[in-house]
Amino acid sequence: MKNAYAILLCASLMSTAAFSAEVPLKVVASFSILGDLVKEVGGESVDVTTIVGPNADAHVFEPTPQTGKLLVQADMLFINGLDFETWLPRLVEASNYRGVVVTASRGINPRTLTQDGKPMQDPHAWLSVPHARLYVKNIEEALCAKAPLKCKVFQERSKAYGARLHTLDQWIHTRFKAIPDAARVVITAHDAFSYFAKTYNVRVLAPQGINTQAEASAWDVAALIDQIRALKVKTLFVENMASPKLIAQIAQETGARMGDTLYSDALSEKDACCDTYVKLMEHNVDLLTKAMAEAGKTPPPQS
Ligand SMILES: [Zn+2]
Repeated sequence: MKNAYAILLCASLMSTAAFSAEVPLKVVASFSILGDLVKEVGGESVDVTTIVGPNADAHVFEPTPQTGKLLVQADMLFINGLDFETWLPRLVEASNYRGVVVTASRGINPRTLTQDGKPMQDPHAWLSVPHARLYVKNIEEALCAKAPLKCKVFQERSKAYGARLHTLDQWIHTRFKAIPDAARVVITAHDAFSYFAKTYNVRVLAPQGINTQAEASAWDVAALIDQIRALKVKTLFVENMASPKLIAQIAQETGARMGDTLYSDALSEKDACCDTYVKLMEHNVDLLTKAMAEAGKTPPPQS
């Protein structure tokens, strides 16, 4: 009888062990683009929930008690860092989360821009594909540390996805190569594209600064209108989570047209244009290079 009990207990423990090995890690990502990168590396071994979802603005996010519940059940929390998630310390404290917090942008050399006269770190590093590859490496290492038994799977997925990102990066360089230097100008509502601009040698001007909450001064707007005229920019862009109001006014003033939506800080809803990071980058580059090619047909200004 004792033996039978021991066998039963043993079998029960084994099945528990097998079950826990199959249960995906409960992972929370602070915003949708980061959530997609974590899914790419983690595959079926992670169950990813994002705090700031598609088309939503992480700059002005206000956590709710519901958000706190997500963290209570989480094994790991992935954040961008670079002061993007200003609401995070309050949320972590309110939810009493004691798990791992992984900063996906670790190792990136931050760009500093001026916001309201003060220097601020630019958080939008993911819009440069080589930086996104670094995020992926950081995600792989963090998942391996948390679930060493699945590390090989994470490493393989990270390698395959990294190769896909490398191809994407090459494609973006090729697309921009065809654009004359004078036409490589982008006007967009909030200043999300400084890492992108540096990596792909594009000039980006934005009236609103790094944060969507910032107010553009009348002086800044007037200066931007002068630049749009001088550079003969024909298309202005607004990001999916930013307000189009100011850019629409500038378009009216300058006679430029409003381009389609760029995706900078959030993915689109599922099955729309940009429900993954790769699709988001392809969409943006396609829109930008088409607008630049059109502007490039005009001779550069005489000055
Ligand atoms: Zn932003």
